[in-house]
Amino acid sequence: MKTIGLLGGMSWESTASYYRLLNEGVKKALGGLHSAKIYLYSVDFSEVEQLQHQGKWDEAGVLLANAAKSLEAAGAEGLMICTNTMHKVAPAIEYELSIPLLHIADATAQLLVADGIKTVGLLGTAFTMEEDFYKDRLTERYGLQVLTPDKPQRKAVHDIIYNELCLGDIQQSSRQSYIDIIENLQQRGAEAIILGCTEISLLIQQEHASVPLYDTTQIHAEAAINWILGSNSNSLF
Ligand code: GLU
Repeated sequence: MKTIGLLGGMSWESTASYYRLLNEGVKKALGGLHSAKIYLYSVDFSEVEQLQHQGKWDEAGVLLANAAKSLEAAGAEGLMICTNTMHKVAPAIEYELSIPLLHIADATAQLLVADGIKTVGLLGTAFTMEEDFYKDRLTERYGLQVLTPDKPQRKAVHDIIYNELCLGDIQQSSRQSYIDIIENLQQRGAEAIILGCTEISLLIQQEHASVPLYDTTQIHAEAAINWILGSNSNSLF
């Protein structure tokens, strides 16, 4: 079994989901008392969130690259960044590493393509929905057409993530807002929805939507379990 390094704490609410999913997956595959070999670097999310909203992405990249280097030095054989948004600085992190990075958008897109999805709605932070680093990867590498909510809806999705979900605050009124926004994307032609923020599955599950939901936390964790248990591959993809 390989040892995985997690860059977490963004927020810790979703890192807790990763920790549970990775251990459940290894236990399911190997049985008994088996569990995942994990190094976790959990940041103070307040520091990261301030850098994000001040546009100081280079500083955020240095912070996370240093954390990733310490995971590699500790013995991690592969790395996961447990947030969609901070994949904006994935190139800066990868540059500092000799171990592979399991990119959350690749894991998600590969599943969508395998399922024959061509047009997909994307929910996430404003950074993830509006900037190029995530959407372009889905489009250019995987040929997916990506729809995002309109501007007021994007603001609602973003604000609910930072003001509620990252604080562990689950509100029925916010669930209804997400359901309405998902239905709107479906009406515009989305065949599936990417829950492109690792906290969204705390609020919305498949039972809340008639369109297939692709939960990036679950998909990322499953891809990692396959890699952790794989015998011969030294790279994640
Ligand atoms: N966990 C979230 C994501 O997947 C948002 C928190 C963050 O900004 O990292 O994008």
